[in-house]
Amino acid sequence: MEQARLVVLSDPHAAARVIERLKAAHDAIRTEYLSGRPYPWVVAYSGGKDSTLLLQLTWEVLASLPEEKRHRRIYVVGNDTLVESPLVIGHLKKTLREIGAVAAENALPITTQLTKPHIDQTFWVNVIGRGYIPPTRNFRWCTDRMKIHPTNQLLERLVRSEGGAVLLVGTRRSESDNRRRAMQKRGVTATEMNAHSSLDRCWMFAPLADFDDEDVWLVLMQRSPPWANSHRDLITLYKNAGGGECPLVLTKEDAPSCGTTSPRFGCWTCTVVKKDRSLRGLITSGHEDAGVLSRLFEFREWLVELREDNNNRQRVRRDGNVRLRRDGSRVMGPFTLEVRRRILRRLDRLERETGQQFLSVAERELIDDIWRRDQVSRECRVAFWAAVDGNADASATP
Ligand code: SF4
Repeated sequence: MEQARLVVLSDPHAAARVIERLKAAHDAIRTEYLSGRPYPWVVAYSGGKDSTLLLQLTWEVLASLPEEKRHRRIYVVGNDTLVESPLVIGHLKKTLREIGAVAAENALPITTQLTKPHIDQTFWVNVIGRGYIPPTRNFRWCTDRMKIHPTNQLLERLVRSEGGAVLLVGTRRSESDNRRRAMQKRGVTATEMNAHSSLDRCWMFAPLADFDDEDVWLVLMQRSPPWANSHRDLITLYKNAGGGECPLVLTKEDAPSCGTTSPRFGCWTCTVVKKDRSLRGLITSGHEDAGVLSRLFEFREWLVELREDNNNRQRVRRDGNVRLRRDGSRVMGPFTLEVRRRILRRLDRLERETGQQFLSVAERELIDDIWRRDQVSRECRVAFWAAVDGNADASATP
């Protein structure tokens, strides 16, 4: 295996530390790959710096093995929530194409895949169709539906067909206190596998657990990826956005990193963060797409305003029931049908203004269908209460 070529480092201690960690990670990956377990590997690849480094090290180990020992297939899996920041999803799709092409040229057992949420669970079907309020820290309905479930489905398929699967993740203790605590609780180390928190016969492996931010960047700046000439695009993306990525979230324990207040690349519609600092970073850095990005930024701000105004929401929940808090105050329901229609009109305008498609034809049809059913339910409720007491309380219905 080629030794680390970290030549331009001002701090010799940092260089020695990175070389040591790099060697440890290569060793851990090689040992596990050759361990005799027959299960395929799934590399969780978001296109961000950690998963890029994870994939690069995995690839380097695989390429260093004689052909007859490359017996485990490696799936490189990205996820598209369908509301990803446009530059990030562009980068993810481009690199997945490059990875697939170069792996095929070199006859490496690497397959790329892009997972997506089920049509019934996309951001727009839930917000415009069902009237879910854009996610908050306490009502973060999106992560499971748009990130965890699509990847879990792929893992379940592999477990069924291959008897098991190993999920490689780029998670690192030093990412945040939350991450450190979650990894500690699960007993995650850089050399051992852990059982997946919800999937049987699926294990997780985090060989970069001990890497610091600085280590990751130093390696990426010094070593070219095997599938392209350099990491220049990735580095520029981070530089312009001034932040980190919303990682490929695979378990509920990982979820706190998705939609936090740190500057992350996540969904452009993410209303869990107070301010989308990565979009704003790209806009203020004068990115060539700043015009389009500004429109997206404004739309996101408008979604937050809509969410914060109770007048935009039904006084009953989707099932028609009223829910009260302990103090007797009412828990508001989803957006009213009128507000959902307004969001759709404004999204249509955004599509016209930017020349981009945000909503697929299938999503539009599904939204129409949900609206029709909601309208019928509402009419039935009104008719029911009118029949019960001859005096339907219109204010208690959506
Ligand atoms: S980035 Fe935000 S909107 Fe997207 S899945 Fe994460 S929390 Fe939800």
